[in-house]
Amino acid sequence: MSVPGLPTLRVALLGYGVVGSEVGRLLAVEADDLALRCGANLELTGVAVRHPAGRDFRGVPVTTDPASLIPGADIVVELMGGIDPARELILDAIGHGAAVVTANKALLAQDGPTLYEAADKAGVDLYYEAAVAGAIPIVRAMRESLAGDTVTRVLGIVNGTTNYVLDHMTRDGLPYGEAVRRAQELGYAEADPTADVEGFDAASKAAILASIGFHTRVGIGDVYREGITGVTPEDIATARAGGYVVKPLAVIERVREAGGADSGVIARVHPALVPAAHPLASVREAYNAVFVEAEAAGQLMFYGPGAGGRPTSSAVVGDIVAAARGRVSGHPGPGESKYAALPALGVGRATTRYQLRLKVADRPGVLAGVARLFAEQGISINEVRQRSLDPATAGDGLADLVIITHVATDDALRTTVSRLAELDPVAAVTSVFRVEGL
Ligand code: NAP
Repeated sequence: MSVPGLPTLRVALLGYGVVGSEVGRLLAVEADDLALRCGANLELTGVAVRHPAGRDFRGVPVTTDPASLIPGADIVVELMGGIDPARELILDAIGHGAAVVTANKALLAQDGPTLYEAADKAGVDLYYEAAVAGAIPIVRAMRESLAGDTVTRVLGIVNGTTNYVLDHMTRDGLPYGEAVRRAQELGYAEADPTADVEGFDAASKAAILASIGFHTRVGIGDVYREGITGVTPEDIATARAGGYVVKPLAVIERVREAGGADSGVIARVHPALVPAAHPLASVREAYNAVFVEAEAAGQLMFYGPGAGGRPTSSAVVGDIVAAARGRVSGHPGPGESKYAALPALGVGRATTRYQLRLKVADRPGVLAGVARLFAEQGISINEVRQRSLDPATAGDGLADLVIITHVATDDALRTTVSRLAELDPVAAVTSVFRVEGL
């Protein structure tokens, strides 16, 4: 079916898996409405997969050779994932003058500049809303709606798997391994969960968000990364006792000199404590949320499903509509904005608060020695709590000390931690968490 009187745009769909099959469904089911929204009928000319046998492609021609679908396409939708051959196929599509829609965060974080430059040079659109936080319209909001503002900081829960794991460790008291197993049973985590739990997936998204938000180029290699594999039930309990929740955060921030000039950007991904009253603390299950701070707008919160075929297809088809409109009008949308060219700074320059948990000798004078080490690095202590001892270790002459600092640099904190570890009455620095959102 097609809407009479409208031109036809040819769409090639590379990949028909979790997301691609839902995109194919939406393009078929919503064909007339989409045509009226775009001002053109969208004709799905072919889909590419690796294993077509015995599958239903809604009557659309299927091939195992994705490159064969590119010549003649107006819009190429890459939903295969991975670096190769997705990268060459996207460049080929741009070379053929097609607009490109992709959800491939790994590729964009690794090689985005090559793709953006090729698209700019060819004067074609390259859209990637689904690459960050699934259905949440954060890319377009940062790229277009906030283009008149200055984004200063973004705190995001951009990986649903790790949010699910930490949420169920928090609410059900599950140990880490059990929470991961449950996420795998529900299809939230892969059989090999490394990309999620070690923070690689979130780091890709942080790089993309930092690039758009700060009009600068940030690659995945610029993102500091810590996974959630070391988070223990004891960490969760300590956080709760202090009024915090442990969340898997991506933090991107603009760093300014004392005079106010920008000196760079920092992107980091790690588990962090957020106050229980912060909007990010109530993001549960596998949901995503992005909390944006901008100079004029103030604080904005975007919330929704960060993955899944159906939600993600909403973002992809939204991009297809935007690309189609650009095609119809002859005016492509905004390209890459990198004019600020801010350097990516190391995590050592980041400033935040910290929670440290120490096992120390339970005798007078110890606290003074610990406090002196913090003072030597210019870090002031906000709060000290002595937690009741685990019955298993009670009687060993050690106390569990929880220290929350005021704002300090990561460098100063690291130096303090290594000196603490050498201090005689300190048996162990059990954990260190950054505290965000205060
Ligand atoms: P998927 O289920 O693994 O689907 C990949 C599709 O690409 C499959 O149809 C596969 O064919 C096809 N394919 C892969 N390599 C191919 C090749 N060399 N030639 C032809 N076809 C090939 O992946 P997905 O979950 O839909 O993810 C697609 C993209 O969306 C990825 O970049 C992912 O990061 C991104 N994304 C996914 C989600 C999500 O919730 N799943 C959310 C946001 C973003 P077969 O069907 O024959 O295997």
